[in-house]
Amino acid sequence: MALKLEPGTRLVVATHNPGKARELAEILENRFVLVSAGELGLAEPDETETTFVGNALLKARAAAQASGLVALADDSGLSVAALEGSPGIYSARWAGPAKDFTMAMKKVEARLEEAHADDFSAWFTSALAVAWPDGPAVVVEGRVDGVLTFPPRGDRGFGYDPIFVPEGHAQTFGEMDPAAKDAMSHRARAFAKLKAALL
Ligand code: IMP
Repeated sequence: MALKLEPGTRLVVATHNPGKARELAEILENRFVLVSAGELGLAEPDETETTFVGNALLKARAAAQASGLVALADDSGLSVAALEGSPGIYSARWAGPAKDFTMAMKKVEARLEEAHADDFSAWFTSALAVAWPDGPAVVVEGRVDGVLTFPPRGDRGFGYDPIFVPEGHAQTFGEMDPAAKDAMSHRARAFAKLKAALL
């Protein structure tokens, strides 16, 4: 059976992060009826896998099984070359329970200083998984490369956006027009792959 998503399908979006939910909705261009996991009162599963792809699949499967609807989940994060890919899948956890990204960005800066790093290359990864309640699933990954800059600049994004300058640009993701970020982001790239696979 080919896995296809028809326009108008009710889709549970398994993210509790409002910034990501907004981006996902914009990228999906209102093709689907989106219901959030929060609205349905679904529990957030523990992210126990060791890769972005593994965690995206785990979240999509949990939401599909709990809701009986097709579910879309993402797992994403910032990887820093000089920190051997950290914070990576721990990007959200570095911000602690208070989701304090000012602190998380300071932690990245402090780790780079401790490592006497002169390479500030970094990349964002987005894994997107779609799972059907009866078992099948599709997962893809997108990435955007760039360099880190300190101190953080801009308040238009979320998470680590204020320290990330995408390749070929001068502004951080935090300074950029959100539409410009959406056009080049790791999530947009993952979505292009997902669309090619499912639409
Ligand atoms: P998770 O995918 O919910 O596990 O969390 C990923 C974390 O990575 C988020 O809390 C963000 O801090 C960070 N992250 C993912 N995508 C972006 C982005 O586009 N900009 C800034 N931070 C991001």
